Order: sequence, then C-alpha cells, then structure tokens
Amino acid sequence: MTCPDCTTAAERDWYGYTSQCKACDARALSRGPDFDRVRRAGKLDARYQRALDQIGLTHKEVRAAFDGDRVNRKDAA
Ligand SMILES: [Zn+2]
Repeated sequence: MTCPDCTTAAERDWYGYTSQCKACDARALSRGPDFDRVRRAGKLDARYQRALDQIGLTHKEVRAAFDGDRVNRKDAA
C-alpha cells in the first residue's frame, strides 16, 4: 500500500511519487485543487468525484493521505 516516497512524505516535506503506488496517487490528489476545493466547501462535487473515479480512489483514501502528509502539518514543525 505504501512505498519509500510515502514513508518519506510522512516524515518530512517530500514531493516524490512512485507510479503504481495507490497511496502516492492519493497523496497527489490530496495536494491538488480539486481536493482543496471540496475540503473548503465541506462537501464533494462532481468534478472531484470524476477525479476519484479516474484514478480509482475513494475520498476516504485521499482524506487519509492528506492527514498523513507531513506537508500539511507545518504547525507541528
Ligand atoms: Zn507511495
């Protein structure tokens, strides 16, 4: 489920991705404008749902990637 890029991203700011790694796909989407928009709105929309479907992910998986991403925890530095 995870790879060295995922492990590193949980520990420090990291922008590496491994192809074929689902958790990397989830992290990439969680850093994009579609996830940012639905997170601010507090609800999913059709465009974001299409992005999920294209990659084959669920919102839960992307949300988990967001929560585990060190980039999003600058306040904890
Ligand atoms: Zn990965």
